[in-house]
Amino acid sequence: MIQYIENLAPELIQLRRTLHQYPELGFQEFQTAKLIEERLERLGVEDIRRVAGTGVTGIVRGSCEGKTLLLRADIDALPLTETTGADYASRNAGTAHACGHDVHTAILLGVADTLLRYRAQFRGNVKLVFQPAEEALGGALPMIEQGVMEAPAPDAAAAYHVWDLPVGTVGIRAGGVTASPDHFRITLTGKGGHGAAPETCVNPIEIGARVATRLNNLKLDTPSVVSICSFLGGTGENIIPETCLLKGTARALDGDTRRRLYEVITATAEEVAASLGGTAVVDYRFLYPPCINDSGMVERFVSAANAVIGQENVIYQKKPDMTGDDFAYFAERVPSCYVKLGGAKTPLHAPNFDVDEACIKTGVAVMCRFALDFLA
Ligand SMILES: [Zn+2]
Ligand SMILES: [Zn+2]
Repeated sequence: MIQYIENLAPELIQLRRTLHQYPELGFQEFQTAKLIEERLERLGVEDIRRVAGTGVTGIVRGSCEGKTLLLRADIDALPLTETTGADYASRNAGTAHACGHDVHTAILLGVADTLLRYRAQFRGNVKLVFQPAEEALGGALPMIEQGVMEAPAPDAAAAYHVWDLPVGTVGIRAGGVTASPDHFRITLTGKGGHGAAPETCVNPIEIGARVATRLNNLKLDTPSVVSICSFLGGTGENIIPETCLLKGTARALDGDTRRRLYEVITATAEEVAASLGGTAVVDYRFLYPPCINDSGMVERFVSAANAVIGQENVIYQKKPDMTGDDFAYFAERVPSCYVKLGGAKTPLHAPNFDVDEACIKTGVAVMCRFALDFLA
């Protein structure tokens, strides 16, 4: 199987470069979805379907009835201008695959190809899920609402994200692996007036400054992060405004902490505003849940990875990171593992983001081994 993947790798790199040249934003992945469908059809994948607009699913059946493993790749790009200067750089102005979803897509197409070839070696099904709109909008939930977790219902799920770890390695951990990336806006209202007479006013800028300081320094006893990322208010040098607006993000790795952040942020804003004679209105948006890796699945994945790339290349990550991923919706429903794939040359979302394409081969080989073992 390793030799088959070796031989397939140049074609997968070519596929990745084509995807990279024509990146598309969430729920607009029309060309991308078409490319995926055509490729799956050519391979002979069964039951190819469009789900949630630009999502694509398909089934690779093994030798006989058995369990179903869902493998997910996200397919969307980001609204930013690529600066890599690569000859396969984005040709869609203002849009770039700066989060490696082109790589995830190429890997899953390679996994489909390889598993079809080796279908005699496993039972049951591999359900391929090419998911739109991971960035911000969230394509996982609409896909689930439209039946991705049925007929056949998956018993487990797995996904990769490329990461700035050395190429040839994977990073993994049990438990919380991505955070709930919730958003909030706090509108603070005071009493406007002349900058020369602050004693006659309630200055919302002062309230905002205190709220921002308190929230940026908020420490709970479980992992969490709060960042105020936008502070908007006022017009002139000598006018105390009526209102100002703070925008921020609050992240946690478990549901309890997530709820506590909501409570503390709301209470802090209201208390600080009231203490200075103003008011606070908090508009809180719960986005993706935290993604929790199942320890049994992690164990299985680690043993597959050990067999393919060697124990020394399987990095057990002590600390989770606080980014979000809507793969979490799959992980809420079935035992799952979300794995970091080494190979990113820069931080994610950087305008010069690129990967060492050798990670594609590693990704395909480890995922295929894992699927064969899980469906043995
Ligand atoms: Zn991203
Ligand atoms: Zn991403």
